[in-house]
Amino acid sequence: MLPDKDGPGVGGRQSSPEGEDLSVSLFREYLRLKTVHPDPDYDAALRFLDRIAEELDLPMRKIEVCPGRVVAIMTWEGKNPPLKSVLLNSHTDVVPVYQEHWKYDAFSAFKDAEGNIYARGTQDMKCVTIQYIQAVRRLKAEGRKLMRTVHLMFVPDEEVGGHKGMESFVKNPEFQKLNIGFALDEGLANPGEAFTVFYGERNPWWITIHCPGSPGHGSRFVENTAAEKLRHVMNSFLDFREKEKQRLNTSECFTLGDVTTVNMTMVKGGVAYNVIPAEMDVSFDLRIPPTVNLQEFERQIKEWCKEAGEDVTYEFAQKHMNQNMTSTEENDPWWSAFSAACKAMNITLEKEIFPAATDSRFIRAVGIPAIGFSPMNRTPILLHDHNEFLNEKVFLKGISVFERLISALASVPAFPDEA
Ligand SMILES: [Zn+2]
Repeated sequence: MLPDKDGPGVGGRQSSPEGEDLSVSLFREYLRLKTVHPDPDYDAALRFLDRIAEELDLPMRKIEVCPGRVVAIMTWEGKNPPLKSVLLNSHTDVVPVYQEHWKYDAFSAFKDAEGNIYARGTQDMKCVTIQYIQAVRRLKAEGRKLMRTVHLMFVPDEEVGGHKGMESFVKNPEFQKLNIGFALDEGLANPGEAFTVFYGERNPWWITIHCPGSPGHGSRFVENTAAEKLRHVMNSFLDFREKEKQRLNTSECFTLGDVTTVNMTMVKGGVAYNVIPAEMDVSFDLRIPPTVNLQEFERQIKEWCKEAGEDVTYEFAQKHMNQNMTSTEENDPWWSAFSAACKAMNITLEKEIFPAATDSRFIRAVGIPAIGFSPMNRTPILLHDHNEFLNEKVFLKGISVFERLISALASVPAFPDEA
């Protein structure tokens, strides 16, 4: 059955025949679509979004940024279309599940007696997608027309690095045409009363250190072995790891996003018990805050390699150098609109650097300020985890939060260069 034009949550049709809020029903319906890697059903998501666009009476454009990878954009034109627009971004894909560790089918969107909805994507980030949609639906139903244009963007492949999604799309001329001034994207739940907002991200560096050495028979004391160099390299990285861990644990105002994490993830080398190998390699996953001088940090790595011995070299599999951070200064017009709207709702914000990576990094890299915000307080952080859930009350509150935020952001007065 198609909902009427005003759709769920407004116009007197607040609940389904079973007494469930229609926004919750819509959320659960979206959670049941298997947009799960490694073979996400993107067609199902696009069909769903087509229907929503029709309900909201908004034009939707689809741009195939890579073969089989479509970015969908619904546009709510503002009263003054030449002004910079507001982007509401969300990704449609979700990470795989280990069903045997789940209490319920991860794609059934089961709701328990407390109103907790269990499904992959409840937190990351199908909740936000539906909250954006329902917030815009309500604003439209109230007859509001905002000054700036609002784009709702739905991107594929965030969970596999965004290369065939947002990373490609920001380079597409169609992205430029959206004339985006400010973007909202995903954040993380907060177990306490506050809500977390993210204004930057750590840079992932995946590095392999090659330690060549003199080969020989396993019965002798061979000089200059690969293993000795490997030990040196490991010590340098893991001592640094210990220091960063200390720094995180001894400072009350530090979160994971403020320190560099170091993890040794792979070791390779050797052919037989009695053969001293000609090379041993070790790989690390580093996540570096945008506040760190990255050039200096690389010099430090080079130094560690030099200290480890002759001909020790390094190679990057991934090296992000993005140090863009979105302003959270009170004189920034976007941030001040965002924070004032939160203040008006008595929401406490905790500002953090995102510990992992999201599509926001591609948005910031092209010079657009972006805030990561998923309005989920009183909720354990369960993204990518077993039994990911979100309580329906928290979900519903988030719609009201976005209603205020979208209205505030799309009402930011024209800047001098926009007049
Ligand atoms: Zn996500």
